[in-house]
Amino acid sequence: MKSTRLFALAVFFLGFFPVFSQSVPNEARQQGHYNTNKFRQMYQEFSTPNMFRTASGAPGPQYYQQQADYVINVELDDENKRISGEETISYNNNSPDALEYLWVQLDQNVRERNSKTPLIESRGAEPAALAQSFVQDYMVEGFDGGFKIQEVKDGKGNPLAYTINQTMMRINLPKQLMPGEKFDFYIKWWYNINDHVVDRARSGYETFEDGNRGYVIAQFYPRMAVYNDVEGWQNSQFWGRDEFALPFGNFEVNITVPADHILDATGNLQNRKEIFTKEMMKRYEQAQTSFSNPVKIVTQKEAEAAAKGFAKNKRTWKFKAEKVRDFAFATSRKYMWDMMGVPMGNKTVMAVSLYPPEANPLWEDYSTRTVASTLKTYSHMTFDYPYPKAISVSAKNQGMEYPMICWNHGRPDKDGFISERTKLGMISVIIHEVGHNYFPMIVNSDERQWTWMDEGLNSFLQFVAEQDFGETYPQAIAPHTKYPSRRGPARNIVDYMAGDQNELAPIMTKGLNTYNFGANAYAKPAAALNILRETVMGRELFNYSFKVYANRWKFKHPTPEDFFRTMEDASAVDLDWYWREWFYTTDYVDIGIQNVKKLFVTSQMNSEVKKLMAERGFTENDLAPMVYLVEEGSDDFDESMLVSNVDEIQTLKDYIEENVPLAERTKLKKPKFFYEIVFEKPGGIPMPIIAQITYADGTTENIKYPAEVWRKNDAQVKKVIPSEKEISKIQIDPQEETADIDLSNNSWPREKHIGQFERFKQKATQN
Ligand SMILES: [Zn+2]
Repeated sequence: MKSTRLFALAVFFLGFFPVFSQSVPNEARQQGHYNTNKFRQMYQEFSTPNMFRTASGAPGPQYYQQQADYVINVELDDENKRISGEETISYNNNSPDALEYLWVQLDQNVRERNSKTPLIESRGAEPAALAQSFVQDYMVEGFDGGFKIQEVKDGKGNPLAYTINQTMMRINLPKQLMPGEKFDFYIKWWYNINDHVVDRARSGYETFEDGNRGYVIAQFYPRMAVYNDVEGWQNSQFWGRDEFALPFGNFEVNITVPADHILDATGNLQNRKEIFTKEMMKRYEQAQTSFSNPVKIVTQKEAEAAAKGFAKNKRTWKFKAEKVRDFAFATSRKYMWDMMGVPMGNKTVMAVSLYPPEANPLWEDYSTRTVASTLKTYSHMTFDYPYPKAISVSAKNQGMEYPMICWNHGRPDKDGFISERTKLGMISVIIHEVGHNYFPMIVNSDERQWTWMDEGLNSFLQFVAEQDFGETYPQAIAPHTKYPSRRGPARNIVDYMAGDQNELAPIMTKGLNTYNFGANAYAKPAAALNILRETVMGRELFNYSFKVYANRWKFKHPTPEDFFRTMEDASAVDLDWYWREWFYTTDYVDIGIQNVKKLFVTSQMNSEVKKLMAERGFTENDLAPMVYLVEEGSDDFDESMLVSNVDEIQTLKDYIEENVPLAERTKLKKPKFFYEIVFEKPGGIPMPIIAQITYADGTTENIKYPAEVWRKNDAQVKKVIPSEKEISKIQIDPQEETADIDLSNNSWPREKHIGQFERFKQKATQN
């Protein structure tokens, strides 16, 4: 009898009292619910693993991918700003499926006269417009871009039936293309090149003040769509926003341009000896063994001289590229050209820059060095850069990536002045675009569907690379001591996550349909990964798992689940809650301290316990030896009941003498103060609670409760901190590493928090 009662009381003190209460009366009975626990596994969101993609997040034993090889001849008409080309595509069906048709992407068609892209935007009449915009929007006939498809033939020269639906072209196969078969076909086309500065496009020309043009050319040829086990054909239209999904292949591309042009492209130049002068060849050889200073292949003087002419004759630059998903090139008679070697494993990769004299002085100092620094950081975080080179091209207002080549903004102003914003903006964009070689050019995710898989992962690594760059080139970032990264730090995503919920979309949303694209697909996933690395997983587990993901999926096509599963599989950290909250919802982080009680240990039973005992018919004799905690300032509290040492409490003394071996007794802690902290969580995302405790003697201690502390109560948890010293302050997330959107509830005793408006006012009066 007695033992049952003791048991009941003990259980009661552990907080299980409701278990013994009566069932809920009929009138108060609530509705049932599904499992909405934030720590439940993601069985509903994830598809069932299969032979193509395993539960561990790796490619499965029957993983396959299609291959598209290209032979392309293309010619630039500089006078008429036109490109014409012909290509033979060899399409290898490695899938287990018979294909009735092939889908080819015609991205240039977003600039057709009758493109539907402008029609899907909602836009009212504005009270004022720039004259230039007014003319563009309401007066001129649209630009006649878009592919003019001249011929589509099979390998034997027979015409193929095809249908163009906006930016997609379906080629109807004469007979099914069976698993393992290859189909060769030929397309001939031309199109008018757009001004990329005017229409803010990813490809096109810019016109310099001297009338010359710089061409950065991409999406210039009909490109195969991806066919795979998750999408079938990825033939979602290109509306101008979501980027590209492309299979790997080998490219042979011959580019004919005015003879006075300097050109570089994806792949290895095949006819270097024909193109280069003896002097250029000598400089090129020198560059290959120059590992810290770029060597100019074409100097500023030479570029300035070339800009004065206009060659009527042409020459052809011949390139070959292996295992790339795309091909792009840049060409102009204005280009300077520099290069340096980057040791990579047992070979040397070339870091390369192309820029007009207008980009100096700036590009010759930092472009190629930034390319090299980026390759080092990214290779360290993923795998050795497998391509022979990485090129950064100066192009106005650009920031766009292709395999081995990218376009980047940042030039001195007309007076030659370089602001910090321009310089660091240029370094950041080069890091970002060169970084895209890894994601998505090599780890080839589907950009059309999941913007964050390349932009988010890449923006996260950009942050890491920026920090490395700052350490390598401190003079470039002075007066800053650390690179002032825009995306990555947790606190930089707070304003976005605290925004109007009507204008937020989960990261797991197709880019076209999100609001605030940059914050959603770049900054938030970058911050989420940074927080995962620094606060949730720790660098060692994160870095290892991230590397496993990169290596498993290099030269393959991963999905979001492959990433999520791999990060868990390689680390033994259960992250389902993290993915769900950060990637599948628009929840935000807000954790605070609701209340702190200071308690003392005594041997005197307090009124709360007395009341409960009376309710349940217990007497003091029913109890095992007990100690009691009493809150400072409560009705039960009385200075005289306090002990200066827990040893003075008889029940404890007796227990210790009976149960704790003599040798262990001196090691016992002697807590004197007990703080019960009630943590509250107004924000939806469960995160670790990082509590910094400051003691009265000025010392501090950090306690980190894992996010799982919230698994049974998503709104409030309690913790007791026993201490030999008095606590003077408790601060949650002192380093602002969790993206907590409201710091006003983060400390005890509450600190007066300066609101944004006050801060603005202070700032305004300071200036
Ligand atoms: Zn990007």
